[in-house]
Amino acid sequence: MAIIGGGISGVSAALHLAERGFAVALLEGEDIGWGASGRNGGQALPGFGASQAKIKSLVGAADSKKLWDMSVEAVDLLHAQIQRFGIPCDPVVGYLHAAVKPRHVRELQETQDELVALGAPPGELLQGEALRARLNSPRYLAALTDGIAGHIHPLNYTLGLAQAAQAAGAKIFSGTRVTSVEPGKTVAVRTARGTVTADFLLVAGGAYLGGLMKPLAGYIMPVGTYIIATEPRADVAAMIPGNEAVADLNFVLDYFRRSADDRMLFGGRVSYSTLPPPSLPESMLARACKVFPQLKGARVEFCWGGNVDITVNRAPHFGRLADNILFVQGFSGHGVALTGLAGKVAAEAIAGQAARFDVFAKIPHSRFPGGRAFRVPALLLATTYFRLRDML
Ligand SMILES: Cc1cc2nc3c(=O)[nH]c(=O)nc-3n(C[C@H](O)[C@H](O)[C@H](O)COP(=O)(O)OP(=O)(O)OC[C@H]3O[C@@H](n4cnc5c(N)ncnc54)[C@H](O)[C@@H]3O)c2cc1C
Repeated sequence: MAIIGGGISGVSAALHLAERGFAVALLEGEDIGWGASGRNGGQALPGFGASQAKIKSLVGAADSKKLWDMSVEAVDLLHAQIQRFGIPCDPVVGYLHAAVKPRHVRELQETQDELVALGAPPGELLQGEALRARLNSPRYLAALTDGIAGHIHPLNYTLGLAQAAQAAGAKIFSGTRVTSVEPGKTVAVRTARGTVTADFLLVAGGAYLGGLMKPLAGYIMPVGTYIIATEPRADVAAMIPGNEAVADLNFVLDYFRRSADDRMLFGGRVSYSTLPPPSLPESMLARACKVFPQLKGARVEFCWGGNVDITVNRAPHFGRLADNILFVQGFSGHGVALTGLAGKVAAEAIAGQAARFDVFAKIPHSRFPGGRAFRVPALLLATTYFRLRDML
C-alpha cells in the first residue's frame, strides 16, 4: 500500500491502514506537515468549504445529512486521536462565527435554522454587551457560538499522527518526491530514490501535487493564504477571553485565535497566483488592527503562507482514478478536521468497505476551465463579484 503526501490526509490514512494490518509506505516530497497541514490556522470545524445548502443542492438531502454527520465525526475523531496518542497540540473547543455587516447577521440566523434541521446545537447569537464580553473588538455586529469547532496547533497534531502511524507499523519516507505513477494491477510509484510497487495507491498531495496525476490537476486550484503571529502579549487573553477561534463571514475572510503562548495568530488575504502579496507582515497587521485596535504597534514575529486546494464548488473531491488508485483532495480551506476522516474513510474503502468513501465520491465536480494560465484569470473574475460583495 503506497500513499503520496505527508499531510493530515496521508498520515491519517497511513495510521488507519497500518492498524488494519496493511504494509504501508508513505512518500512525502519534503517533510511531514510541510504542506497545508503544518501551516494552517488550526481552526478545526465541522462542515465544508461549501455551505450545507450547496452540498444539499449537489447530492440531495439524504446524502448531505450523511456528509454533515461525517464532518462532525471528523472533529470528534481529531479530539479522540489527540487523547489516544497524547499529542501535545493544545486542543481547545470553542468557536465564534462573526458578522461584519447586517447581511451576515441574517446569515447567522439562517445558519441556526440549518443547524436545528441537521440536529446540531444551534449555538447562541451574541450581540451588544454579551458579544463584547467574548470578542473585545469594535468590528463585529454579532457572533454565533459553536460548541463543536475549536482549534489546535496543526503542525504538532500532524507530527503526532505521523508518529502514531509509524508506531502502528507504517513506513514514512520524507524527502521522497514521487516523480511518476504507472497504473496497473500493481501500481508502480517512482521516486528519485527508487520505485515502490503496491496493490493500492492513495493520492493525498493536496494543493502541492502539481501535475503529477494529470486527470486530477484541473479539478483544484492552489490559492495562497497567509498568517501572522505577533509577539506574546499580556493583552491578547483579554481580546478573546473564552479562547475561541474566530472567523468572519466575508468571502475573503479574516480568521484568528490566541496561541497557547499568548500570541495573536491572524490569518487572511489570498493570492490566486500563490505569490505572496507585497509588504505582507505590515498589511496583515493593518487588517488585524481593524479587528483589535489594541494591536497597533505590535511586533509581528512570524509571517507565513501556504496553499489551499480549492475546488470549483468548494466541496471536497474524493474518488478513484482506477480500482486501486484513490484520491482525496479539494478541502477548499476547510481541512484541519476533515482530512483526518478522509484518511480514515479512504482506509475503509481500501479494506473493502467503501460505503462512506463513496458518499463523498458522489459529489459532482467540474474542472476549472483551461490550463493554469487561464484558471487564474477565470477564478479572479468569478471571485471579483464576491470581493465586491464583501465591501457592501
Ligand atoms: C495558511 C493556511 C491556513 C489554513 N487554515 C485552515 C484552518 O484554519 N482550518 C481548516 O480547516 N483548514 C485550513 N487550511 C486548509 C488545511 O490546512 C488543508 O485543507 C489540509 O491541511 C490539507 O491536508 P492534506 O493532507 O490534504 O494536504 P497537505 O497538508 O497540503 O499535504 C500534502 C503533502 O503532499 C506532498 N506532496 C505533494 N506532491 C507530492 C509528490 N509528488 N511526492 C511526494 N509528496 C508530495 C506535499 O509535500 C505535502 O506535504 C489552511 C490552509 C493554509 C495553507
